[in-house]
Amino acid sequence: MDDQVLYNVFRQEIRERKIPISLGKTCPVKCTFCYEKDHSYRPTIDPPLTTPEQWKFILQEIQKYPTREGEAWLLGGNEYMEWTDIFLHPKAMDWLEEFLDTTDKQVIFFTVGYVKPERLHKLVEKYPGRINFELSVITLGEHRKKLMPNAPTVEQVLKIIEGPSVTSSNFYSFGPNTMSKDAMTISKINPHCILWMGCLTPLRYIDAETSTLMRYGRSYLPDETRRIYNAGLPNTQMIHTESYISTFLARQKILKTFDACELEKKDTVVVSASIYRLLSTLRKNRARYLYVPNQMLGGDSDCSTLLTFNDVAQRLNGETQVYLPKVIMEHPSKEDRDITGVTFDEFKERFPRTRFKVLHKVNSKMSNGKLYEKGYLKNIVEDYLGNPLAKKIAEAPLPN
Ligand code: SF4
Repeated sequence: MDDQVLYNVFRQEIRERKIPISLGKTCPVKCTFCYEKDHSYRPTIDPPLTTPEQWKFILQEIQKYPTREGEAWLLGGNEYMEWTDIFLHPKAMDWLEEFLDTTDKQVIFFTVGYVKPERLHKLVEKYPGRINFELSVITLGEHRKKLMPNAPTVEQVLKIIEGPSVTSSNFYSFGPNTMSKDAMTISKINPHCILWMGCLTPLRYIDAETSTLMRYGRSYLPDETRRIYNAGLPNTQMIHTESYISTFLARQKILKTFDACELEKKDTVVVSASIYRLLSTLRKNRARYLYVPNQMLGGDSDCSTLLTFNDVAQRLNGETQVYLPKVIMEHPSKEDRDITGVTFDEFKERFPRTRFKVLHKVNSKMSNGKLYEKGYLKNIVEDYLGNPLAKKIAEAPLPN
């Protein structure tokens, strides 16, 4: 690979606060639910296994950036490079330590558990408050082997959870006594780490068997959620994966934001499925809602942030003016690009007769803020499950 291309990608990832070390091959864990199975939608390169020389460059570049309060650097590039469990790189642990030693920045990493528990626990004690360790447990139950053929063993995962280093564990419902059982096991050995739960979402390229299991798990989400609620675990418990639930829990803010946009009845506004259902039920005929499915990701995806300009293009039909939520174009590069890298200007050029306006209030700061503020398991049980309004909204039909 041309060094110039590689170093430019390093710089790009670093600008977006990533620590772009690479494994030099596709992820060997081969999870059947992996969202990296098809990343053809975004331009990536295949960087070689990061060498000590490259690391030196990466670290020196990072050191040039000011430290911002609360900002954590993501270990492993993931925008222009493929994602993996970066601790499979033989030097990852040493380099993590060097990063902590030579900067005052925070770090965040996601791993399925290829870390050395004792060494990591020691680092957490040495650098308190600087390591955000998000452990992707996925499941400790019977489906683990099938879903994650090359993942670490349950014993290894539990050993990691036992210590002080794990900030959060994520795991999901795959049927009765899956998510709830895992929650109790994890909470028992670590009552402090945050429990991130919910379901995995089938996307276009996930195989049929895994997709069926994901949907089966979703059908048990209410039961599993109630079981955990009734157990009264001390850990913070969040569910952020189901957009229909998140939308419902944040409904007041969404409606308020929508009202503040002061749209006219005839104005066309782009919305994803859950927002369509909410607005067509509670703000009927207040505007023309143009439902845009997440065609590019396919499957059961339903998310405004992950809509692409091409998804929108496929639904346009001669409109003269269209309102777009800002979230579509909040690329980490800070340019107005969608997740595939297409710019807003490129999109507009395709429709010279249409005027596009951006709803700046509908931005990811607002949506992420509400997601975190409202997405407690407790809220789901007390405000969503069994709520007749939630049922009414869920049943609102989507247009073809
Ligand atoms: S470890 Fe992560 S990147 Fe690797 S296959 Fe599993 S989900 Fe994908």
